[in-house]
Amino acid sequence: MTQTSLSDWQAKAAALRVPHQAFVDGKHVDALSGATFDALSPIDGAVLAKVARCDAADVERAVQVARRAFESGRWSESKPTHRKKVLVKFAQLIHDHREELALLESLDMGKPVMDALNVDVAASVRCMSWTGEAIDKVYGEIAATGIDELGLVTREPLGVIGAIVPWNFPMLMACWKIAPALATGNSVILKPSEKSPLTALRLAELAIEAGIPAGVLNVLPGYGKEAGEAIALHMDVDGLVFTGSTAVGRHLLTCAGRSNLKRAYMECGGKSPNLVFADAPDLKRAAEAAASGIFFNQGEVCTAASRLLVERSIKDEFVAMVVEAGRSYQPRHPLDPKAPIGAMVDEDQTTRVMSYIAKGQAEGARLMLGGSRVHPVAGGCYIEPTIFDEVAHEHTISREEIFGPVLSVIAFDDEAQALRFANDSDYGLAAGVWTRDISRAHRVARKLRAGSVWVNYWDGGDMTAPFGGYKQSGNGRDKSLHAFEKYTEVKATWINLEA
Ligand code: NAD
Repeated sequence: MTQTSLSDWQAKAAALRVPHQAFVDGKHVDALSGATFDALSPIDGAVLAKVARCDAADVERAVQVARRAFESGRWSESKPTHRKKVLVKFAQLIHDHREELALLESLDMGKPVMDALNVDVAASVRCMSWTGEAIDKVYGEIAATGIDELGLVTREPLGVIGAIVPWNFPMLMACWKIAPALATGNSVILKPSEKSPLTALRLAELAIEAGIPAGVLNVLPGYGKEAGEAIALHMDVDGLVFTGSTAVGRHLLTCAGRSNLKRAYMECGGKSPNLVFADAPDLKRAAEAAASGIFFNQGEVCTAASRLLVERSIKDEFVAMVVEAGRSYQPRHPLDPKAPIGAMVDEDQTTRVMSYIAKGQAEGARLMLGGSRVHPVAGGCYIEPTIFDEVAHEHTISREEIFGPVLSVIAFDDEAQALRFANDSDYGLAAGVWTRDISRAHRVARKLRAGSVWVNYWDGGDMTAPFGGYKQSGNGRDKSLHAFEKYTEVKATWINLEA
């Protein structure tokens, strides 16, 4: 039964068991050094748990465990129908524990608990069940040959996968990695962000309950420089999958190169342009989407619609509508079921976002909404929805990923200029285009250099389609059958059929 009020959720939070140990070989373990770090809640600064601070020694232990589990064949050589059954059960268990998982997520990283429940948990369930359901429907190929030979093209698991994930959608980003990794028969070492380790630890327990053998899914909480880097440099990790910032993704590619040339796939940052033409079909709907596109999840979204490019003839009218829609995104206590947005993940991120707001003002952009840190809960990290108009394409706030509730509005004069502004970015994760003209919609969608393009809405998508970036937004794709490509090697087997 879904909780209905702030006090209901608070009562449930008070009774919550907070996982804090690493999970290796099917067991809860402390870091070998005994070290811990504080998991702080950005809601009010409270310490939620002292979490195992894993480092290179823990990575060494986990890699040996994961390798042994892989070599045993219990999971890696099991039938796809078996892996499907287990992953579908895993999905069911995530659903059954949805309130507990949503609470852990909300307390740990500050997002509204109702978003955690209706978006993060729901999408994690969908990811796990869709991927499980898919794995016994994927076929290999038979090469075109003469009668005297047979060429088989098959996919095999890589072996041991290191998965390093961020804090903005901690559980969902973990599921985007572990679902296809497990479905294809790999063993996994998952390193959640030090800012949001809790749901990953709970997922590992549920995986065992679902029937994933001990040692196949291991979770090591810890810092990037300590646990993450040791995974990236390990000579016996076969694949490295990452979601996080472009700076760290760039570094991890060099780690792969410096070590064993492990397969390395990086899902990185974005600065997504949302192009609104004067002939958009419904300006009010477009304005509401522009606001939710930047303010949802406190703006801590890789595909946040952070650059609003508006045709000059409607710019003032449209900005007024976006400001109006933006006003409703005032941060509240994340456990309040009515909270439209919650807390920023921590003090560091709050300071970083506030420094971009100061830079926007210093560079001469016009502040239309917000701009301040606020305190709906004492001791927490909250920033108002913030909108800057009259941003120049060259301004820092128009070029760098802020990862907070800060919108930059840039006017354009024609389609060519809109496309130039949109594509003149290091990033290429997502883009939107609003127009009634079907020819323009297709033309602009084709010319946008982005992994996802949305026409007349923002943030469409499902497990059925791939997700990932062009340019410095990354390589490889999560979701859909394309995700399996990252976790498998392609083998050609030739059989001589001559008598
Ligand atoms: P981050 O790069 O700081 O950290 C991501 C992960 O990398 C964390 O687990 C961290 O501990 C680890 N890490 C940090 N330094 C490391 C190192 N030297 N070696 C190994 N691991 C290291 O990113 P973040 O702040 O957690 O997340 C925000 C970023 O994630 C944004 O840039 C956002 O756009 C991006 N993101 C991208 C997608 C996508 O699908 N493209 C989705 C969500 C978030």
